[in-house]
Amino acid sequence: MSELKIYNTLTREKEIFKPLNAPHVGLYVCGPTLYSYAHLGNCRTYTSFDVVVRYLTHLGYKVRYVRNITDVGHLESDGDEGEDKIAKRARLEKLEPMEIVQLYAIDFHKVLDKLNILPPSIEPTASGHIIEQIEMTKKIMENGLAYEVDGTIWFDVEKFAKTNAYTQLSGRKLDELLEGTRDNLEGQTEKRGRLDFALWKKAKPEHIMRWPSPWGEGFPGWHIECSAMSSKYLGEQFDIHGGGMDLIPTHHTNEIAQNLACCKKSPANIWMHTNMLNMNGQKMSKSLGNSVLPNELFEGNHPLLEKGYSPMTVRFFMLQAHYTSTLDLSNGALQAAEKGYQRLMNALKLIPNLKTAEKSSFNLENIKAAIYDAMNDDFNTSIAIANLFEAVRVINSINDGNDSITSSDKEQLQKLFNEIVLDVLGLKEENESGSDKVEGLMNLILELRKDVRAKKDFAASDKIRDELLKVGIQVKDGKDGVSWSSN
Ligand code: AMP
Ligand code: ZN
Repeated sequence: MSELKIYNTLTREKEIFKPLNAPHVGLYVCGPTLYSYAHLGNCRTYTSFDVVVRYLTHLGYKVRYVRNITDVGHLESDGDEGEDKIAKRARLEKLEPMEIVQLYAIDFHKVLDKLNILPPSIEPTASGHIIEQIEMTKKIMENGLAYEVDGTIWFDVEKFAKTNAYTQLSGRKLDELLEGTRDNLEGQTEKRGRLDFALWKKAKPEHIMRWPSPWGEGFPGWHIECSAMSSKYLGEQFDIHGGGMDLIPTHHTNEIAQNLACCKKSPANIWMHTNMLNMNGQKMSKSLGNSVLPNELFEGNHPLLEKGYSPMTVRFFMLQAHYTSTLDLSNGALQAAEKGYQRLMNALKLIPNLKTAEKSSFNLENIKAAIYDAMNDDFNTSIAIANLFEAVRVINSINDGNDSITSSDKEQLQKLFNEIVLDVLGLKEENESGSDKVEGLMNLILELRKDVRAKKDFAASDKIRDELLKVGIQVKDGKDGVSWSSN
């Protein structure tokens, strides 16, 4: 069988995967900043890494998967400007920052669970690792690569870049970066270099999240959390670091710089980056205002969607594209995915009942090899699924009496489907309470509620609403009619 190769953003090559400490594998993926609901783009990235974890586990590796939660330090500009995203939401909603994070963390975990994304081994929070971040900042200062200005600690990018390849990950030119940030220092007297970024920021009096440090009260910068938490749980050097490719130029570039400046070690051997989920050709993002929430998609509760699609259809839709390609969310593609997912699951259900014969009329080993070759080629789920459909065609044909299978091939085929479809791709049978059924039931209940309201039986109408709420379904009476959502 072919060896597993992974595309490494750092070297721009597909490399044979050789863990530092096999069978153990260390994987760190940048988690979400939980200042609002995670959108489908975020889910695409976590679905891709879920398959990475599942496939590595299937190959026999013991994966320690660390995915953090950013609950402090991620500023509105994604750089060093603006308010802390979580603190701002806390201020607007008059809640504690931790209440904000808790609210969205609960939803995030529920959504990932619906998509059958396995939880990470460790899910550390930035606010739980302030001491580690301060320690790392101190070491970088001791090594002469960071400086203090009035309680804020800046990473000295130009000094670091004299002896290190600061832009290796992004492949950009340092001169061009400097040119591009020409005006950044205007009105900002505190940092020395245009590309310098904050490791620790002094907290203004109104800032809610603040901790004591050797430099006064403040809070950590966004990038230092991942350097501190990855080295704490996976060591100063580990196998794979991942995230969306939007993180390459700044967050991940700075993470590598911090680790090198602190410990003279580049943290990860392989850097994996997922491509973006797009909406009409544009990256889906909260700040662009074009994000679709997973629950809106599951329920069809979005103006751009013709109907709802079940979580497994959505997962299948995402896996049909390779993680390094862009993926556009559209009704057409989702409808095709719905059909494809059902065809695949129907074939899986047919296998146990296939009649066996003396000879197989097809070569199972070829199909199996093609599937593994695809997965070994940088987790190419797109080609793996195309080859699974070759098996689906054969299964249907055997079922129709046009092809034949031996009993040992049947056993192998069942094993292959169980392992690849269920364990590795993480697709599962959607049970009777799948979204179509719920949708049908809800239409019926709301229709009956409309009838009782027409008869002015508001007690009955309210009872329906209240009882639905008890099972987690919220009915909203709006100007444009009645809508519902479930949590
Ligand atoms: P954030 O909460 O914005 O820090 O994002 C969490 C993760 O989702 C990061 O790894 C991002 O790179 C990734 N991400 C954000 N937007 C998208 C998108 N449209 N498609 C795929 N991944 C995304
Ligand atoms: Zn990170």
